Amino acid sequence: MLLSKSFIPILKDNPSEAKIKSHQLMLRVGMIKQASAGIYSWLPLGFKIMKKIEDIVRQEQNKIGAQEILMPTIQSSEIWKESGRYDDYGEEMLRIKDRQNREMLYGPTNEEQVTEIFRSSFKSYKSLPQLLYHIQWKFRDEIRPRFGIMRGREFYMKDAYSFDVTDEDAFYSYNKFFLSYLRTFKRLSLTAIPMAADTGPIGGNLSHEFIILADTGESKIFTDKRVFDLNSEGTKLEKSSLEQLRTKYEQYYSVTDEKFNNDEFEKMVTEENRLITKGIEVGHIFYFGDKYSKAMSAAVDLPGGKKDFVKMGSYGIGVSRLVGAIIEAKYDDKNEIMKWPLSVAPYDVALIPMINKNDTSALEKANNINNELIKHKIDVIIDDTDENFSSKIKKMNLIGAPYQIIIGKKSDGDLLEFNETGGDTQNLSLDKIIEIITKQKVTN
Ligand code: ATP
Ligand code: MG
Repeated sequence: MLLSKSFIPILKDNPSEAKIKSHQLMLRVGMIKQASAGIYSWLPLGFKIMKKIEDIVRQEQNKIGAQEILMPTIQSSEIWKESGRYDDYGEEMLRIKDRQNREMLYGPTNEEQVTEIFRSSFKSYKSLPQLLYHIQWKFRDEIRPRFGIMRGREFYMKDAYSFDVTDEDAFYSYNKFFLSYLRTFKRLSLTAIPMAADTGPIGGNLSHEFIILADTGESKIFTDKRVFDLNSEGTKLEKSSLEQLRTKYEQYYSVTDEKFNNDEFEKMVTEENRLITKGIEVGHIFYFGDKYSKAMSAAVDLPGGKKDFVKMGSYGIGVSRLVGAIIEAKYDDKNEIMKWPLSVAPYDVALIPMINKNDTSALEKANNINNELIKHKIDVIIDDTDENFSSKIKKMNLIGAPYQIIIGKKSDGDLLEFNETGGDTQNLSLDKIIEIITKQKVTN
């Protein structure tokens, strides 16, 4: 892709309306454009990154056996009246009337819609468990939309729902999502800690929020530092293995302010291991038993001939919020250097030829290198403009391809100037560069 032809409208300075670094960078490099308060258009750079995140989320859902569906954004008020949430949900729900004067709404979440699908499709315990998910826009008329897409009114969410016969089976489903969330955030190169959470308006009795540390986060957290040393490596999808994983995390005190209790914190965590800080909620999982299935009569036949309401959980990931969360975690705003994790980077490599008006040989060389990289499925952006070197580097540092190749005076013969964005430059052959990037791509 040539920079001169791409739609990446970079601003010279930080936009003054943006208060946190993710919002600043997203406006600065034109990843998004505000349409109205808390509602954004996604421009090519931002959209490409969000789609890559979505794809990783999808792959990890599929790996635990969840099946993808797509429910509409607009829902009928009828099912929300059945669950009792039509009145309870309050002003965050955007209510609409159609031409028949029917009450509709723009979905803030989908427990009712998916329960309606389930009850009309499944009748027997033999079809369970069912794990269903979709990735769809949501609308919540947040009282204070802010920080760009971090707290938007319209936002993109993956929400999954589990249906089981018994509580025990349902906890097994819950634990599958617990593992898949740890795996998902790891692939996005984020450390997300599961924290015991309040069950809030969705209701129920078991819940974890997945939080990444960031000073600009809106959640206050109280945690035992040792939780950061845990990982989910090697965990199998078996029941006992998943139980062990959750127990391993739950042995350390880790909660958000809603569940915080100072006496417990001081009793369970020694002073040197206490960490009180802020974080961004990127995912949230709930178990709520038969709260919706009972209200909406979603029952299945049991082996003995009886019927029972199914046991449900719901599992959300803020896909659009994750774009901002990754920036909060990775952007060095002092030096204005962004380095996207390779797994979601908009381009793998920035090719920066030093172009002189009378001499286009560097651009030709860049085109040849690009052809070679394409053969190895390495995605490249070429700065084909004739701006000066320092402004070229500045721009590419903001766009944030994880690697840069500079074709200038110092690239001599077959050796090229290569660096990880923000890191030291090395002189390497193209073959060596391809080898380094390919190796990283595989481990991602
Ligand atoms: P919050 O406490 O941040 O309002 P929530 O508890 O209301 O979140 P859930 O209903 O659990 O959120 O939604 C699942 C995920 O969707 C959240 O973990 C978050 O990542 C994302 N999310 C929720 N509200 C927004 C929003 N207004 N803008 C962007 N992402 C959001
Ligand atoms: Mg909320």
